[in-house]
Amino acid sequence: MSRSEALFERANRVIPGGVNSPVRAFRAVGGLPPFIVSGSGAEIVDADGRPYVDLVQSWGALLFGHARTEVVEAVREAASRGTTFGAPTEAEVELAERVRSLMPSVEMLRLVSSGTEAAMSAIRLARGATGRPAVVKFDGCYHGHSDALLASAGSGVATLSLPGSAGVPEGAVADTIVLPYNDLGAVRTAFEREGSRIACVIVEPVAANMGVVVPAPGYLAGLRDVTTKHGALLIFDEVITGFRLGPAGAQGRFGVTPDLTVLGKVLGGGMPLAAFGGHRDLMEHLAPVGPVYQAGTLSGNPVAVAAGLATLRLIESEDPYPSMERRAAELAVAASATLAERGVSHVVNREGPLFSIFLGAEAVTDFGRAKAADHAAYARLFHGMLDRGIYLPPSGYEAWFLSAAHDDGHAERIVRALGESVGAPATS
Ligand code: PLP
Repeated sequence: MSRSEALFERANRVIPGGVNSPVRAFRAVGGLPPFIVSGSGAEIVDADGRPYVDLVQSWGALLFGHARTEVVEAVREAASRGTTFGAPTEAEVELAERVRSLMPSVEMLRLVSSGTEAAMSAIRLARGATGRPAVVKFDGCYHGHSDALLASAGSGVATLSLPGSAGVPEGAVADTIVLPYNDLGAVRTAFEREGSRIACVIVEPVAANMGVVVPAPGYLAGLRDVTTKHGALLIFDEVITGFRLGPAGAQGRFGVTPDLTVLGKVLGGGMPLAAFGGHRDLMEHLAPVGPVYQAGTLSGNPVAVAAGLATLRLIESEDPYPSMERRAAELAVAASATLAERGVSHVVNREGPLFSIFLGAEAVTDFGRAKAADHAAYARLFHGMLDRGIYLPPSGYEAWFLSAAHDDGHAERIVRALGESVGAPATS
């Protein structure tokens, strides 16, 4: 028995399913998850000493790869001064200022500890500020596991083929309106029917929890128009896209400004940190200034803030985006050519360094099409890649993350492994 197998067996005795987040258990792809002991740059090493090129990067939390020196040093230094005070610190102010300078729509922000908390709090703020109850979300988009947002969600909920979750009472989702992604007509119709009840539309500006699904041209601008017209707020959940598609996230890339932005993952540099923010008038509805309550013992935790600040400083000093963009574009082209040569029908969806491959599909523009892809073939590909030292997300509903630490050598290894995993080129 390998050390990972032994650890998983032990884990299953004390942790449900052996994991602290469902997709980690490999249920969608079969097999047992390797336990990870360390990571450096683009690579991780498991408990049996096997190295992998990591295309998960902690589900997009790492932009500069594992154990980047500046981030580790910042964490070490902050921890040595105290791990939590539950009182304001200067570093929180600096973090907020840096976010605002990179992402100008975020005039003010509130720090929290997870993307779930950030999205949940943004929704409460939108409801509180507008005095309206209803929330529009999109099929296959994931905004964390708060009750109101679990309806028809992507990520692990999609991976496990769940319509939602047990334990969420009907009342909690009664005001959640779920519409198909990339369908502006459906949004307009919903607003015509009940626009005066709708507090906000929350969207992943590039969907990355049903695999990657890019917004159709004009889609985000259309959401902006319809929400403005009806006095509802537009919330961009940039937990994945923020600081990944560019310094100003998807809003900078597509030139559409939301009212509220939800951030997480890269913002915390691999530590538990997330945020929601927007225009000052809106944010000042929050307690202690306004009546919308929101709080957290570890919110703005100094060690997490230090990791986030180190990451934002690296973004400013290194501008990693052009090289990630080039490498991801080349990788997508080479991967697609490799699969095509072997007669494997597929589509690569990519936006910046964020991409995923749907097998057995031609065009994936919404959750219905993402579900119709060949997920059994993905599971085989996943294991072929894992056997060849490439760690992909263990579900066809998750994004592949190329970090600034991946180099051309990693990209070549990924493409070679892809070719070997799906078999020899087709002969005609
Ligand atoms: N929003 C999006 C777009 C996400 O991808 C995720 C997590 O993957 C979340 C929210 C929830 O974040 P967390 O897992 O930190 O609670």
